[in-house]
Amino acid sequence: MAIEEKPSRNEDEYFARLDAELMKERRTKLDVDRLKQERSTHLNKCPKCGCDLQEREHHHVKVDECVECGGIWLDKGELEMIEEFDKRGSGFMTSLFRKGR
Ligand SMILES: [Zn+2]
Repeated sequence: MAIEEKPSRNEDEYFARLDAELMKERRTKLDVDRLKQERSTHLNKCPKCGCDLQEREHHHVKVDECVECGGIWLDKGELEMIEEFDKRGSGFMTSLFRKGR
C-alpha cells in the first residue's frame, strides 16, 4: 500500500477553498446583522430629520407625522385610499393638512 509522503496539492486547495467559503459566509452574516441593526434604529424615525414619527388616524388612513418637521409619511396602499377619498370629494387632503395647525 502506497503511503503519501506529503499532502497532495489538491488537498491544500480544498482547504483553502473551504476557508474562503467560510469567510465569505461569515462576512455575509455580519453584513445581514448590521443591516438589521441599522434598520431597527431607523424604525419610526423621520427619514428627513431623524425625529420620532407619530401615528395619526385620519378617515381610517393611518399617517405617520413627524413631530419636528411636520413631514407626513404614508404606508403602502394608503395613498390609494386617499385618492379614493378625494375622488368622492371628501376633501381628505384639505382636512388632513388643516388638522392640527
Ligand atoms: Zn422630520
